[in-house]
Parts: sequence; structure tokens; C-alpha cells
Amino acid sequence: MTWQRIIILAAVLLALAGAQDLRAETAHLYRISLQDHGSAVELAGEGITILAAIPNDHALAELTDAQMTRVIRLGYAVDYLAASLYEYSAQDETDDYYTYTSLSAQLQAWATQYPAITSLQELGVSWQNRVLWAVKVSDNPGLDEDEIVCFFCGVHHGNEKISAEVPMYFLNYLLTNYGTNPDVTYYVDNREIWVFPVVNPDGYVANSRYNNHNVDVNRNYSFHWGQSASNYGPYPFSEPEAQAVRDLNLSQYFTTGHSYHSYGEEILYPFAWASNHPSPDNAFFVSLVNAMCAYNGYQPLISGNLYPHGGEMNDYLYGEKGVMSVTTELWSGPGYNPPTSGILAVCQENLPTDMYMLQRAGGAQITGRITDSATGQPLVAQFKVVQLWNPNEIYPRYSEPSFGRYRHLVVPGTYTLEVSKLGYATQTIPGIVVSGTNPTVRDVALVFAGWPNIDITLTPQGAPIQIPVGGGSFNFDATIANNSGASQTYNAWIMMRQPSGQMQGPMLGPLTLTSPAGAGITRSRSQNIPGTAAPGTYTYIGYVGNYNPLAVYDSSYFTFTKLSGTDASRVDNWDNWGESFDQETEASTPAGFALVRAYPNPFNPATTIGYQLPAHSRVSLRIYDTAGREVAALVDGWREAGLHEVTFNASGLPSGIY
Ligand SMILES: [Zn+2]
Repeated sequence: MTWQRIIILAAVLLALAGAQDLRAETAHLYRISLQDHGSAVELAGEGITILAAIPNDHALAELTDAQMTRVIRLGYAVDYLAASLYEYSAQDETDDYYTYTSLSAQLQAWATQYPAITSLQELGVSWQNRVLWAVKVSDNPGLDEDEIVCFFCGVHHGNEKISAEVPMYFLNYLLTNYGTNPDVTYYVDNREIWVFPVVNPDGYVANSRYNNHNVDVNRNYSFHWGQSASNYGPYPFSEPEAQAVRDLNLSQYFTTGHSYHSYGEEILYPFAWASNHPSPDNAFFVSLVNAMCAYNGYQPLISGNLYPHGGEMNDYLYGEKGVMSVTTELWSGPGYNPPTSGILAVCQENLPTDMYMLQRAGGAQITGRITDSATGQPLVAQFKVVQLWNPNEIYPRYSEPSFGRYRHLVVPGTYTLEVSKLGYATQTIPGIVVSGTNPTVRDVALVFAGWPNIDITLTPQGAPIQIPVGGGSFNFDATIANNSGASQTYNAWIMMRQPSGQMQGPMLGPLTLTSPAGAGITRSRSQNIPGTAAPGTYTYIGYVGNYNPLAVYDSSYFTFTKLSGTDASRVDNWDNWGESFDQETEASTPAGFALVRAYPNPFNPATTIGYQLPAHSRVSLRIYDTAGREVAALVDGWREAGLHEVTFNASGLPSGIY
């Protein structure tokens, strides 16, 4: 099984018979009073894109005339602010702020001045080829050490310029106080601190919330992507800026994350994608954010209670990767950014929250290294703090590969840890007490339990097999025997090694098969070899085991020869055909995920949508209208590998394209 999440979206257009008139209208920027309404959640539910909000005070949104009329009818007081968000942001006095050029130069100057504790890295480039700069601050910055990793970033939204000033101030503070200030020295020596001050440089230069492709980068992450949001991009991680954050975490394994935005003077924690939707780690987030807010006086809020928005960075880092990540909305307004005279005060009031994150990342938690009991080698294994685990809300968490390090920040309490990996005996450790402000360390040595005893034998017919120059086919028997003494579900597949040494395939499968104890099956199959296949000796290899992640229980092979020469091709494909292993599984275990069909289409009022999964996966299948509004959630949960069908009934929806 794999535990990757697969989101299938917008891959087919469904035409509900009829026609729909779509008109684009110009929107202007308004200030919407929340004084009698509390939060902006209701507005977001009306399909209005909220740009900033302060609960019980006001929200900012770009509204068309029709939307403005609707908002007023709902009982909100509305004030015109500017022709657009761009016009409004341009009113901010940001002349003395960093420009992209001066900020890039400053980062390079620091890297030159402090080489012993900095590593300046390019995480890629924006659409307009601006370098996405990130700085690692740590002792031994060129080494990947077994240290806690803290990530800080700013300017997902290009018009929120103060959100670059604060992480730059923090960087300057770390670099200039290392070796003299004991706290700074300790954290630089014992953390890997990553600062990515301008995630969206094109928007920063253009003074635009969006990137150069008009995408809101902080809606382009995969977790609940496209939900309660606009400008979220054509697919998750379509944008280089969101890719940069994703890929940095995939190589560095953040412990904490902190994303700066403006404005509102709030600190926001998961989840963002829905309102009133706390995460399984809510107790930890509440304690973290309350402590941070005690320093700067900001308001702690579940992100979705400000207004729901899917595809957001913290939700992704936390929900999919287990990173304890939050957002600070800087500055109280008016405008997105303080005037020049106010920059320093905002930087200073937020410095303690960053220092606190460095501290807390090393505080109360369950951590340790997961290794193979025989070899001592680090293992990437799934770990669960059972009391905080909810498979419907978050993805499985894994130890990182370099050290087998796992880490789960918690509030003090008594917890149960479960560590599992394919082929290893699962370990459950109850009664882990976390108290005070120190980590509780539990190293886990997993014992390899061996693969199930399942044998595969491939037997060629008419050996030695020689394939004519123009192509041909050969027949073989595949026999699989379950000698494990228990019922087993496993994969079977066939690969082929070409004369060049390169692997080709799977030629068959991966099939998902279930065999009772003692069961043996034999199937006669045929393999086509086209005339275009290179001459030489091929090795044809059958496997049983787990396809992804790969674990081979047994294999069997034979060789055949493709003759050389010239002749007209008679066979033009690599088809594998013959007796079915299992009607259901063979037909339905695909090599990649896809939406395979919608039938009928166009339809009225119902259509059946098929989708296929290569492995046990979490599936989110949703229907959107052309304005990007979700109209139906058809599937949301874990599904087995194979072909699935779901019915979409559009009764009550207007005609149109979905
Ligand atoms: Zn923002």
C-alpha cells in the first residue's frame, strides 16, 4: 500500500445538458463591516473571496456590483475603498522597504559575511525567472545534522511587504548576535533555521497579491486544494513558488513552520480549509499560539474561523507532513503595510515569537530514532501518537530517512506510540509520559519479521524462445503459491530487462491478489514482442511482493532472444494476454491514477464517473462549476487500489459545464 494522497480534480468536464450564460464583471475593493456579524465565515460561504479580516471589525474583499448588492442585503455595511486591491496596496508608503533587488543583495552580503553559519540557497525561480532565495542558518550549514528544523517565510502575497521585513529582521538578529547572545548562539548551534523571506518575488515586484500567473500562491498547496478559495491555480503545486516550499520540506523535514502575512494582528493555526474545524493537534496549537500571542498581543484564531480557505501552506505542511505550522497576520492597518516609521516596531514586537518557536520546537514532545534492530540503519517508518491520530483528517506521519528521526510536539500528557513498517513487526508503546518542557525520547528498533512465504514461478513454453525479426509472441505459465500459512493480499507483476540492461514494464500488473493459506494458482499467458524491439537477449522476470513501496517476496525469470536482421514487422505491440488471475483485480489495478470515464456525458440528471487507483490511497473527488465553486463532494476518504465508480446526480443544479 502507498499512503500518498491523490486528488482528482477538474480532469473531465461534465456537461449538464442545457446552456449557461457566463459573464465577467469588474470588481472593486470594499471594506465590509463585521461589527454585527462577528466573522467573515458567512461571506466566504457566499463565494466571496476574503483578502483580509479582523473578527468583529471588518473584512476586505473585491466585489462585483452583484456581489456587493447581495452582501448589503445580508445586512452588512459596505464602504468603497479603491478601484482594486492593486490600487489600494499602491497607497501604502513602502518606499523604504526592501525591494527584491536590495533584499537579494542583502542576503548575498550576509552569506559572505557569515559563512560559518549561513548557506544561501536557490529554491528555483519564479515564472519571471526571479531566484527564490532561502537562507539556512545553523552551525555546520553545509551538513544535514540530526537537528530540529524551523522554517520561516514571508510574502506569499506580494502586496504584503511587511511580511518580508519581519523575517529579514529576524535573520539579521540571529546573524549579528551569534557568539554573543547565549540564546541565539544555542539555537543556531542546535537548530537548522530556514528563512524564505519572499516566496512570491514576482508579486512582490508587481505589488500584487498574486504571482505572475494570477495565482494566489497560498491557495496552491494540495491540502483541500480548490475548496473555499479562488485563484488557486490549475492544479495543486502548479506554481513554482509553492513547489519551492514543498520541495524544501521534502528534503529538510521541518519541525515547525511560520508564515508571515499582513494584515490583522492575528496568529492563525490549522485548519484553514473549513470554519470551526480544529485539528487533531489542537491542544498543542492552542498552547503554542497562546504563548506567541502573549509576546505580541495578537489574537489567536483557528485559521478557518477568520474565513475558510483551502490549499493553504500551514494546512498542507501540518495536514500532509506533520509540520507544526502557523501564520502571523502582521499589522493592524489601515493598508496592508505600516508606513516607514512603523516598520521597526512591527519587526521588534514579532521577534520574540520567532525566538519562542525555536525554543518550543525543542520542548515537550515525543521523539527518537527508528532503526532496524539487526543493522542499526535508520528506517522510514510510519509513527502514530495514537491519541492524536485521525486518518480522516491528516495523513500518516513518517520518520525522516537520514537518521530515522521522528518528532511529534505535544502538550504534556500520557501517550501511546505506534511504529510500523511493511515487513517489520509493529511496535506499540503505551504509557509515554510527557511532562514539563523537555522532550521524551523513545528510540524504536524495529524487528524485521520477514516477508510472507509466497512463491512465484514463471515457466516458458518451447524454450529456448526465439522471437522472429518481424516480432512474435511466446507463451508461459505463471504459478503463485501461498505457503505462508495465512491468507495474504499481495501484488504480482512482471518486468523485463532489455538487452541494453534497461528495465521495461510492468509488462503485466501490478495485480493485487488475495490467496488463502496453501492456495496455488497457475495461469497460462502470452507476451507479444514487436518487430521494433531491439535484437538480443531479454530477461523476463515475475515478482510477488509489495509494489509500492517496493518489497519483493519472491521472483522468477527466464530469458528469450530477439533475432537480428531485417524483415517487415508483423507485431506492433507489447501486449500481455491470456488467462485472467482474477476478473476483478487484474482488470482494475492500474499503473497510475486517473479519471477514466463519465458516462453518459452530456447527462441529465445523473452520470457515472469511473476512477482508478494504483494503490490504496486517500481520494478526494469533487465537482466544480466553471466559477470554481464546489457543487458536490463525491468521494473523500481512503479507497483500495483498483477501478471504482461513483454516481453524480445533478438534480437541482443549473445546466452548464462542471
Ligand atoms: Zn497574505
